[in-house]
This record gives sequence, structure tokens and C-alpha cells, in this order.
Amino acid sequence: MAIRLHFWGADQTVTGSSHHIECAGQNVLLDCGLFQGRREDAANINSHLALTPEQLAGKAAPGLNAVVLSHAHIDHSGDLPLLAKQGYRGPIYTTPSTIDLCGPMLKDSAHIQESDAQFIGKRYGRRQQIKMPPGPGPEPPLYTQDDAAQAGQLLRPVKLHEPQVLAGSTKDAGFTMTSTNAGHMLGSTNVLMEATEKGQTVRLLFSGDVGRKNLPIIRDPDAAPAADYLIMESTYGDRLHSPMGDVKAKLAGLVKAVLARGGHIIVPAFAVERTQQLVLLLHQMIEAGEIPEFPIFVDSPLASAVTEVFKKHQEDWDAEACAFYHKGEDAFGWNRLKYTQTVQESKALNELKVPFMVLSASGMCEAGRILHHLKNGVQDPRNLVLITGYQAPNTLGSKLVAKEQEVNILGEPMRVRAQVESIDSLSGHADQQELLDWMAPVAPTLKKVFLVHGELAAMTVLKGKIEERYKLEVVCPKRGDRFEVG
Ligand SMILES: [Zn+2]
Repeated sequence: MAIRLHFWGADQTVTGSSHHIECAGQNVLLDCGLFQGRREDAANINSHLALTPEQLAGKAAPGLNAVVLSHAHIDHSGDLPLLAKQGYRGPIYTTPSTIDLCGPMLKDSAHIQESDAQFIGKRYGRRQQIKMPPGPGPEPPLYTQDDAAQAGQLLRPVKLHEPQVLAGSTKDAGFTMTSTNAGHMLGSTNVLMEATEKGQTVRLLFSGDVGRKNLPIIRDPDAAPAADYLIMESTYGDRLHSPMGDVKAKLAGLVKAVLARGGHIIVPAFAVERTQQLVLLLHQMIEAGEIPEFPIFVDSPLASAVTEVFKKHQEDWDAEACAFYHKGEDAFGWNRLKYTQTVQESKALNELKVPFMVLSASGMCEAGRILHHLKNGVQDPRNLVLITGYQAPNTLGSKLVAKEQEVNILGEPMRVRAQVESIDSLSGHADQQELLDWMAPVAPTLKKVFLVHGELAAMTVLKGKIEERYKLEVVCPKRGDRFEVG
């Protein structure tokens, strides 16, 4: 028997996760994520999915039987509305918490696409009027909020550890999936795919994003199940995170310094996970008297909806979080947060004369309200830009981390005078050692490892480590590469 793997995203790069697998005429897509990077690249990459619109709409063979979504992060889920727009009406299997997170997250992503298209259209018109080279012409948005709602209709819940038939049957030819807890974010999974043909079964494990032990709120990752092939992420394949204890000390030092000089702390953060974790840390430090009380704003219409999803899905919490929650009214410090919903409230923050922290999306500073906060704050040396998550190359976030002296924000060159600091230990991604340890239970049965979801430099280092420790063949596919395994 043979399974065909078609790598279509997050290949030698981090974002845009999408892998197409085919066996005995059955087709399944693992993730359908949004690529984030240079605008020209992003527009082209995001608009071409692994299958054509004719295939997705069932008008050309092979069609798509099912989609499996590992978790809700936009780089894994953000092209699902496009899949729906191009005519796909089949099931998208994922966990109940991921379904609840995808509602507000895909809507928000669609809103960003719509505003982006509007912005480019307006700029084009303005430049034409004043006889400037107009730049890229107006294009319709990649997808709309209606497409996001349509994609939401296709989401189907699966329970962890329970096999789900995706296509065909387990007897003759078909695909079955079983998901386990990835410990990366609320509802995140690793997915074991079992492909059967003529009574033979091949097991393919997709890591999704590999999480970490002892992250606040969510449960630790499950042990990796046995498999014949592994598709594994490699975001931090060349790095080790610093210990959590050091993070608190660094954070306390930074916060106290900014409060003393009367600045603002600007935190680009996904509305999911990092926001809730960072707030929990700050809350614990304020309670322990390690830092003074100060206002924390969450400037994201998405964040309050996401916090509600966190509250609802206590089945995904670890024992500590459950005990902590039942002890007090505001165990996680979520009541401490001030949410800004409207654009007016968001803009009003810039008039505030007292020190405060504002958390706002997007996490890589590519879109959303964070751009306005950076535009207003990045030139003031009293301010701190606190980076808490992975920054893909060519994003504004990566330029800030690289301490570039001048950056472009909303089309205007700005001098970076604010302090920029990174705290990587809050990352939901396993580091090199954690990735190697996570794959230890599955390594003895593996025939080959495919590394995805990492920059080539990080992948190459991890490849060497896996070859050395487990004596396995490791491949780093490029976008469009096809492999046959069996
Ligand atoms: Zn993720």
C-alpha cells in the first residue's frame, strides 16, 4: 500500500501549516493555516490551497473527504474560510474547545482581511489622485466574515483518544484519526492518522504544535502514540527556553523600570493563551507584592470572547488550574483586566498620562490594533515593547526583535526609540530538548521523520540532533514536495 504526502504549507517556514494526504483515492487535509510574512508572498501563498477550487467544490477528482484541524491558532486554521469560499462543504474535525475558539478567531481574521483590502483600495485611490505611483491595485479580501461563518458551520467535534473515521472504512480502504492532547494551547492536539488499504494499515503521526509541561492553565502534553511516520514541528529546533523562574524576575525588573519612568508597556500578543498566561503571571506577582498595581488593558475585541471560551472548557484545564479556580473569585486575575471593545476606547488609551500595559493583536505585529499602539508608542524611549511569542521573518515583530532602528508602521517610517525586550519562556512551543523528549516514545517504531513548521536553520539543527539521538532518516520538505510512504 502507499500513502502520498503532499506538503503544502509551513515547509521550511513557520506559518501556513497545511499537509495533504492521499491513500486509496481518499483525500484528507491536515490543517489549513494562514501564511504570515511579506504582503506580496502572503497574498499569493494564501490564495492557493493544496487542492483546486474545482476539487474542493467536488467538481473535479480527486475531491477532499475531510479536514483535520490540530488547533485554533491562525497559522493552522486561518485559511479555512478560503476553503469554504472555494466551495468545500465537507467536515472539519477538531476538539470542542478549538471549535469555540475558531468562532471568534476566524471572524476576527476575516475582519482583518476585509480592512486590509479596504486600506489598500483607499491608498491606491489617494495616490492616483495626487499622481503618485499607486502601488498594488485594489483586490477583494482573501475572504469575508460570511466565509468565516460558513467555515464555522463545517466544524465537527471529536473526543480525545477516540478514533474517528474520516473517509472510507477501516476494513478496506480509508482514514481514521485519533487525537491526543498537545499541551500547546487550549484544545490543541497531536493527530494520529491511520490509513488502511487491502487490510494493511500505516500510521502517520502529525505533531501539530508540540506544547510544554507546566504551562499555566492547560494540561501537560500526552505521550506520543506509536506510529510509522512522523510529521513534526520544529519552531524552536535550535533553541532552549530559559527557566520559568528567570522569566518572573526579568518581567518584574522590566515592569518596575517602565513604571518608574512613566512609560507604557506595549505587548503584541495573540488574544489566545499568551494573553491569559501573561496576565496570570502579572496577577501572581502583584498579589505577592513583587510589582505594584498598575492598569492592564486588553485591547482586542477578540480577547474577552476567548477568555469566555477558556472559562467554559474546564475539561482542558490541569488539576492546579481547577483547584486554583475553585479557591477564589478571580484566581487568574482575569477580572483585573480592562477590555477595550470599540476603536474609540482603543484610541483613548493613547491619551492616558499614567503608566499602563496594553496587550493587543496581532502577535507578530502584522495587522490589527497593535499597529496603532506601536505607531503611537515606538518613538518614546520611556516605553517598552514586550515580545512574548515567535516572530516569523519579515514581520514587523521580527524587525523590532532584531532592534532595527527604523521600521515601517502603517505605511510610515518610524524611529524605534522604545526599549524592545523578548521573553521566550512563555512560549507554548516545545524547545529543542522538549521536542526530542516528546518524540522519544514514538521513535522506536518510526521509519522516517518529516520536519515542518520551522525556519530552515532551526530545522537543520534539529535534524542533526534527531539523526544523532535516534538514528532516524529526517527530511525537511519544501512547499509542493510529494512523498510516497508505505
Ligand atoms: Zn500553535
